[in-house]
Amino acid sequence: MRDQFSRRSFIRQTVSVGAVGIGAAALLSACGKKEGGGGKKKAEAAAGCTDVSGLTAPEKAMRTTTSKYMDVGPDPAKVCDGCQLYIAAKAGAACGGCSVVKGPIAPKGTCNLWAKKA
Ligand code: SF4
Repeated sequence: MRDQFSRRSFIRQTVSVGAVGIGAAALLSACGKKEGGGGKKKAEAAAGCTDVSGLTAPEKAMRTTTSKYMDVGPDPAKVCDGCQLYIAAKAGAACGGCSVVKGPIAPKGTCNLWAKKA
């Protein structure tokens, strides 16, 4: 009888530890998925809309030297999402585009070509 109690006790403890282990694994897995699922958005948000690796030299020059694009405009009344040249970000994306300035464009960015949305 005593042996049976100790076996039951062992089984209970084993099941409890297993349940805790499965719960912890599920929690860690969920955390990982959350980070991975929004990876591109998070990467864009962290880096801003500054990846110009796909642009040609003239496009980069237009972006930096001619238009003087910046990721965050100093005047909240003159930012890209209020500009008629702004191309809105696709659903879930952090960066939009621009008809004139190539590359990713932050909605709260600006440049010296800003033109009020009609
Ligand atoms: S023209 Fe300049 S301010 Fe207007 S959307 Fe393009 S980058 Fe932004």
